[in-house]
Amino acid sequence: MAGILIYSDKTPYAMQLITVAQMIAKDAGLAIKAVSINDADQAGELAKRADTYKIDNAAINIGDTAAVAAALKQAADQLGANIVLLSSNRRGKELSGRLAQALGAGCLADVNSININGGNIECLRNALGGATVATQQIETENKVIAVMPKAFEAAPEASGSLNDLAVDVKASPLKVLEVKAKGGDSVDIEAADILVAVGQGVENKDDLTTVEAIAKALGGEVACSKPVATDKKWFSEERIIGLSGKKCKPSLAILLGISGQVQFTVGIRDAKTIVAVNNDENADILKMADYVMVADVEEVMPALLKALS
Ligand SMILES: Cc1cc2nc3c(=O)[nH]c(=O)nc-3n(C[C@H](O)[C@H](O)[C@H](O)COP(=O)(O)OP(=O)(O)OC[C@H]3O[C@@H](n4cnc5c(N)ncnc54)[C@H](O)[C@@H]3O)c2cc1C
Repeated sequence: MAGILIYSDKTPYAMQLITVAQMIAKDAGLAIKAVSINDADQAGELAKRADTYKIDNAAINIGDTAAVAAALKQAADQLGANIVLLSSNRRGKELSGRLAQALGAGCLADVNSININGGNIECLRNALGGATVATQQIETENKVIAVMPKAFEAAPEASGSLNDLAVDVKASPLKVLEVKAKGGDSVDIEAADILVAVGQGVENKDDLTTVEAIAKALGGEVACSKPVATDKKWFSEERIIGLSGKKCKPSLAILLGISGQVQFTVGIRDAKTIVAVNNDENADILKMADYVMVADVEEVMPALLKALS
């Protein structure tokens, strides 16, 4: 069997996976098939871009990655796919290991980029805490590759088809009793187009009101470096940028009092434009920023807010 199957529970990520599949399929002449599980809207969107197989099966609880892996294993077998592309979000990463085990496949998650080299699929992933990028490839015939959200653009509308696919999955032992929004702070900084990030150089907690007002004036979200959330507890961990936080790709990132350690920059280096404010002219962040201001954040923040008001 030889073909590519793509699946993500998140429609935007699934559309990005179609782009990856097209890169892989281009010279190898592989068929691309998308799977959607219990999500008619998603199936409709994907069918505008690829041959899409809609699984409607009440026994599959999307939050139960064992059940989803069982369904995708059957889908791969029925559709003749040996390469499965998943999104490397939290659920996709867990799914990738389970599915690889079921398919007897090699597996790579957190893939940032892909090169096709002489028919081989070379996967690029951050390594050594983000200090370098490793190029790796899966040697087994069956492959499961989980690709970082936003690493690729979504495939534009083209052609496709919508088909039904039946799978036989045992009823999940997990039951959803209730779905409720996360308590307290809940934000998706990965989806934000503009981020204003707070580092330890912002020393006065009262200044957060100004930071929030700047973000609001720009139509963006507030994010932070890790110690601001984990040590100072000023924000929830949902807002951390970096290796142990979120990998973000905004159009604009304004970084206030952040030194630029690699564990932070790995989460923001794909931003289109980076503006850094730091009072140390030798701070590492100033080397990667597009615009730098060697200045005290205490002075810059109110001036910036005034200029935006
Ligand atoms: C395994 C591991 C994982 C990690 N994961 C992450 C992660 O995901 N995200 C993350 O952020 N970190 C992570 N870290 C921590 C990381 O190494 C750094 O410690 C952290 O990023 C530093 O945060 P910071 O830049 O806010 O603070 P600092 O390094 O203390 O930098 C503060 C900066 O503010 C500047 N400054 C001070 N006062 C002012 C002022 N008045 N005006 C302007 N500038 C000023 C200083 O010059 C300095 O450059 C991780 C570490 C490890 C070991």
